[in-house]
Amino acid sequence: MKSLVLEKVGALSLRDVPIEKCEEVLGPRDVRIKLHTVGICGSDVHYYTHGRIGPFVVNAPMILGHEASGTVIETGADVSTLAIGDRVCMEPGIPDPHSKATRLGMYNVDPAVKFWATPPVHGILRAACVHPEAFTFKLPDTVSFAEAAMVEPLAVGVHAATKARISPGDIAVVLGAGPIGLVTALSAIAAGCARVYVTDIVGRKLEIAQGLHPSITSVNVAQESIAKRIARDTDGWGANVVFEATGSPRAAQGIFEPLCPGGCVVMIGGQSEPILYDAGAAMVREARVENIFRYAHVFPRCVAMLASGSIDVKPLITRTFAFDQSIEAFELAATAPPADVKMQIELPQ
Ligand SMILES: [Zn+2]
Repeated sequence: MKSLVLEKVGALSLRDVPIEKCEEVLGPRDVRIKLHTVGICGSDVHYYTHGRIGPFVVNAPMILGHEASGTVIETGADVSTLAIGDRVCMEPGIPDPHSKATRLGMYNVDPAVKFWATPPVHGILRAACVHPEAFTFKLPDTVSFAEAAMVEPLAVGVHAATKARISPGDIAVVLGAGPIGLVTALSAIAAGCARVYVTDIVGRKLEIAQGLHPSITSVNVAQESIAKRIARDTDGWGANVVFEATGSPRAAQGIFEPLCPGGCVVMIGGQSEPILYDAGAAMVREARVENIFRYAHVFPRCVAMLASGSIDVKPLITRTFAFDQSIEAFELAATAPPADVKMQIELPQ
């Protein structure tokens, strides 16, 4: 079967790609997975439109896609938790199991991580892949393949909410109503926030955010200052947590303004250049600042929350394409339609 290949900046094709032999050999603790659903991520689109993200440059044809679910079709000799026919989702970054970062539990910041569709590693918009059992998670019958392919972006929000150390009844602000901002808002609510303010400057995105959950309040920061709004709604105290999910240096500049004394800022949005932030505003609040890089240890939690209904990602899936329409799907995704949150591609079964 064909794969979706980024040949070079702006050029996609559907064709057979010879995958390196070593990637296709099933180790004793690996499973072979037939792919079912793959979400289109902003990073996939960015490689398509720009050919690079920071230090990662597309120098050779690369298969795209890293947000995936599928079915186990073969198991290695020592696999004990998964069986043929199991429906699964996969964590796309594989660290070196012996690295210092992995041994310390921070495997996501292991410099040796191999992450799908991050050059030079192929992604999974293809028929099948081999993946470690340890990074493959079984789905309950109540979680669909489409929801399961949302676990990867959701994991970013759950990791951010975990780092924020939310307490029941906290007030949070999420800057940015893109897919990551929205999964962060849902994660913050699931973690116990009483109210989450989501900001953006695009009205349609804010409408989607507002409709996701009764505890979400949308604020259009082109019309209203979030710091003033939070001050008004909290008797001048401020929000307990502010999540930065825009990647915009301007948003980061004012990030401490809505924050309460002793509050926490979590930086999620990727910043390609060094940014300025107001260290004085952080100081007078004794603000805690957390940074996240992807996620670690949260996939099973995400699956459990989708299963229990404490997080519903279905409203975020706004369009589904057949695999043979993958190129059209990416062309559309590159135009960033404001009414779309997550587009997904279904592979032939
Ligand atoms: Zn992604």
